[in-house]
Amino acid sequence: MFVIKNSEQLALMRRAGRITAEALLVARDAIRPGISTKEIDAKIHRFIEKCGAVPSFLGYGGFPASACISVNQEVIHGIPSERVILNEGDIVKIDVGARFRGYNGDSARTFPVGKVSDEALRLISVTERSFWEAMKFAKAGFRVGDIGFAVENFVISNGFSVVRDYVGHGVGKELHEEPEIPNFGRAGRGARLYSGMTLAIEPMVNAGTHEVKVRGDGWTVVTLDGKLSAHYENSVAVTESDPIVLTDVEK
Ligand code: MG
Ligand code: MG
Repeated sequence: MFVIKNSEQLALMRRAGRITAEALLVARDAIRPGISTKEIDAKIHRFIEKCGAVPSFLGYGGFPASACISVNQEVIHGIPSERVILNEGDIVKIDVGARFRGYNGDSARTFPVGKVSDEALRLISVTERSFWEAMKFAKAGFRVGDIGFAVENFVISNGFSVVRDYVGHGVGKELHEEPEIPNFGRAGRGARLYSGMTLAIEPMVNAGTHEVKVRGDGWTVVTLDGKLSAHYENSVAVTESDPIVLTDVEK
């Protein structure tokens, strides 16, 4: 069942989204060679609580931290650790959720650590741009397959691949609601979009093979070939016209 949010609920989604977005800015500002992913997670945790919100990921399915922090070939669900130190040239994905008065925001960005390779910058850029391709179809009357097709088509035409084992999703009172939003699909197929749906659209893009595996920690998803991966996610509200980005304070 899809949940259609009324204007009051959308207002709360905006508040949750704003806190989520600002938590990502806190993380971005903390990133430097030598910092551990645990320190970044602690800053995110403190910021979300200071805003009167709750870190959505903490304890979700048993996840032990407030943010998923994934480095280089790690795709998603990296567990923050004092043993994981960022180095110049790394790319780091930070995925954050904040729940405010019962509603969740969910957003992710990929940041370079210091100076990174041109290929890494291109991967980050293509991933972000594939999200904005998807946004052209995140409108009432289009279908989930239109979004997935837009992402995959853009990514493939740039020589990269999309992760197929993990997908975007509805977001609201629950962190993960229906429908699933794959980053691949057939135009005109899948669930229809309605005004008032709130969706987490999140391209995960690999430099090499689309194939991934889960590490022995049971959480961290990594590329099968060890090549880089990037992630870009916003929570958005579907309307009759342009979608509203709920987790972007800079746009
Ligand atoms: Mg997320
Ligand atoms: Mg998500």
